[in-house]
Amino acid sequence: MRTPDGKECKYFYGNYYRGQSHEECRLVEGTSEEEEWNATLCSTCPVPAILRANACPTMELHAEIKPRFLVFGKEMKISAFCTKSKQIVKEPEIGCGQCHPLPSIFFDSDED
Ligand code: SF4
Repeated sequence: MRTPDGKECKYFYGNYYRGQSHEECRLVEGTSEEEEWNATLCSTCPVPAILRANACPTMELHAEIKPRFLVFGKEMKISAFCTKSKQIVKEPEIGCGQCHPLPSIFFDSDED
């Protein structure tokens, strides 16, 4: 579903039927962050971009709502974990590299 600012996110749910205005983020559903969440966080959330870049089914995303650095307001901080390689994914847009290793042309030939 599209977030209020038009980005596709599989975790967003909005019910506007017959004047209702119920919105939720299913990434924080059931966590301690759920109470703090509101749809304005979607505008700076990195999850839609992560999902566009990496659709790996074994990567789990986790969200925390934190104060923004040097600016008022809050933002979503996302961490990722691969259930297959059992490691933290440092760059969720790329993945952990186990299932989809980068081709050798991306490495220096001196490293061989
Ligand atoms: S806060 Fe992020 S993960 Fe949650 S619904 Fe909005 S864009 Fe999706």
